[in-house]
Amino acid sequence: MDAEEFRSAGHALIDWIADHRAAVDERPVLAPIDPHDVQRSFPTAPPAAPIEFNELLDLLEGRVVPGLTEVQHPMHFGWFPSNASLSSVLGDITSSGLGQLGISWESSPAITEVEEVMCDWLRQLVGLSDRWSGTIHDTASTACFVGLLVARERASALEQNRGGLQNLGKPLVVYTTDHAHSSVAKAALLAGYGWDNIRVVDSDPVTRAMLPDALAAEIANDQANDRTPAAVVASVGSTGTTAIDPVDEIATVLEAATSGGTSSGEASSREASRRAPIWLHVDAAMAGSAMLLPECRHLWKGVERSDSISWNPHKWMGTILDCSLFYVRDVDELQSVMSTNPSYLQSVNDGEVTQYRDWGIPLGRRFRSLKLWFQLELEGVEAIQARLRRDLANAAWLAEQVEAEDGWEVVAPVSLQTVCVRHRPTHVTRAGDTAADDTPMTAAEAEDHTLRWVRAINDSGRAYLTPSKLDDAWMVRISIGVEATERHHVEALWNLMKESVIE
Ligand SMILES: *Cc1c(COP(=O)(O)O)cnc(C)c1O
Repeated sequence: MDAEEFRSAGHALIDWIADHRAAVDERPVLAPIDPHDVQRSFPTAPPAAPIEFNELLDLLEGRVVPGLTEVQHPMHFGWFPSNASLSSVLGDITSSGLGQLGISWESSPAITEVEEVMCDWLRQLVGLSDRWSGTIHDTASTACFVGLLVARERASALEQNRGGLQNLGKPLVVYTTDHAHSSVAKAALLAGYGWDNIRVVDSDPVTRAMLPDALAAEIANDQANDRTPAAVVASVGSTGTTAIDPVDEIATVLEAATSGGTSSGEASSREASRRAPIWLHVDAAMAGSAMLLPECRHLWKGVERSDSISWNPHKWMGTILDCSLFYVRDVDELQSVMSTNPSYLQSVNDGEVTQYRDWGIPLGRRFRSLKLWFQLELEGVEAIQARLRRDLANAAWLAEQVEAEDGWEVVAPVSLQTVCVRHRPTHVTRAGDTAADDTPMTAAEAEDHTLRWVRAINDSGRAYLTPSKLDDAWMVRISIGVEATERHHVEALWNLMKESVIE
């Protein structure tokens, strides 16, 4: 394809995307198809001869569009807001169109330097001090994995990098709660810690936040049993209920655990003085966007005391996937684990410029910072902040309605834009009953009831909500924050919810 063919196809494509996005609310939220339908719409073998671009657009419409779950739909309240602001989409297209290769500073100075500027702008926007240096990863899963790799090497004085997994006498331990995202355990396993060395620290039964005293006890127990506490992953905005682990108090526990502050006797303080500080990774993948609002920053109080932070502009803030920011305080320590520096990548500018390949896993990188830059320039920070505040107000409004309605309850504190609910009818109709009776539902009936009403909504295509388990029982998460979701959409959802529980 030459540049002129690209120009004409590109215009048609942008029109097609704009039409799709403008009419997204006319489509069902959840893709109404069966497994393998999309696959079966394709021929089994690849094409031998080319087709016209317009024919390809028809195929796109016919084969792909039916399999789209519309997370940009204003009635999408599932998982988390996965906003793809069109301003950032333009940046993403530009990244692809420029066809740059980011394997070193030399291979595209602009990739490195725009990324540095964007990481610094975003650092300021969430109120972090200038002690932090950032890079852009694909996802928070990768960011957490990198954090736990560096934690592993800090705790073992680079022992595993040197001698491999077999070389270490004492097991290294990672601490988190069972409200942490599944990517935390995955990162710990991939980094070689092992299931046996992942501690699930108790959390508060109401706020679901990690209990600092429980963390201190787990750490003390591991230290007493010749294991090395290596890292804590604190969730600022957990996946299920947006629980907020107390970062400041956790940092205090960690300091005490390695400075000998809680132990007594000369031997134990000598032992403590040999201990490397325990790595604290703050996983704010979802809630990081909230830190654009100064009034939310109390939620990650103490974050300056952590070692690494990740958050995803590609969620609530609205930068198209994939764009996950990863900040560390000590770049040298990060590079001591991530750098390889083969001769063919060395250059005269080494030492003077940033080589992002030494900050993470991949060598080649995309021009991801362009989508952040485009979004910030074309929308402006104030409009993004106003949208986030709109969503917080919508969540507070919904929580108020739910609390005020008989039979409904909000089952977790609403710390940001996620409202977790259950419905328990006051009168139950059972098979064979002539009238509704007042005996409460059994636990099994309650489970069926929850799944029935949420599925009724989801199958209708009119809205999408995520059922999720809390304390081993189903509840329903309503995650508000799609760019297009206004108050009237939340009102419509609440009406749907009330209708859906009528048997
Ligand atoms: C979404 C989320 C993740 C995973 O994010 P990816 O970027 O998809 O890897 C991790 N942690 C939390 C708290 C999240 O909300």
